[in-house]
Amino acid sequence: MAGGSGPAVEADRRKGRGAHSNASGRYEPIARVAFDDGWQSLDDLPAFKTSVTVDATRTIITRNDSPDISFDRSINPYRGCEHGCVYCFARPTHAFLGLSPGLDFESRLFVKPEAPRLLERELSAAGYQPRTIAIGTNTDPYQPIEREYRVMRGILETLERCGHPVASSPSRRWSCAISIFSSAWRSATWSRWRCR
Ligand code: SF4
Repeated sequence: MAGGSGPAVEADRRKGRGAHSNASGRYEPIARVAFDDGWQSLDDLPAFKTSVTVDATRTIITRNDSPDISFDRSINPYRGCEHGCVYCFARPTHAFLGLSPGLDFESRLFVKPEAPRLLERELSAAGYQPRTIAIGTNTDPYQPIEREYRVMRGILETLERCGHPVASSPSRRWSCAISIFSSAWRSATWSRWRCR
């Protein structure tokens, strides 16, 4: 069951969601579980609603030196994903935020609205050497809240302006970005690096 081995949340509280439970993250020192102790004092708990919190990160490009991964830098505009696929490999990363990989992962989302500005600054830094940036390696950059926040669009526009190589995986929202992405890809292929 997605969300760990915690007890299932009532069906009407998780309607439209993928996970059935909201078990505490693995790093939490205690686990909280609602149960009726027989005194009928358990109020009806609200349904899981999507909330979005600003992630005030100061840098946007994440580096890795893993020999098993074909890219050495990546960007993730969002944390958590409202698509809520039960099999999502990114679910455990919500535990790093003190949240559950279950229902929290798909309802308590984080956005990095400053990503395009941070990206331009990092690409313009002295000594920066362009290599393909992989976007959305953890969670879907085209997830539903992209419609409102348009962070992925801003990132692609920045990369296109700089002629920087980019890679991304297909998404349910692929079609909304294909025009910008294809432009960025052409720039990566045919243009000179131009972000300084
Ligand atoms: S990041 Fe991808 S696999 Fe994970 S929940 Fe979102 S759409 Fe599904």
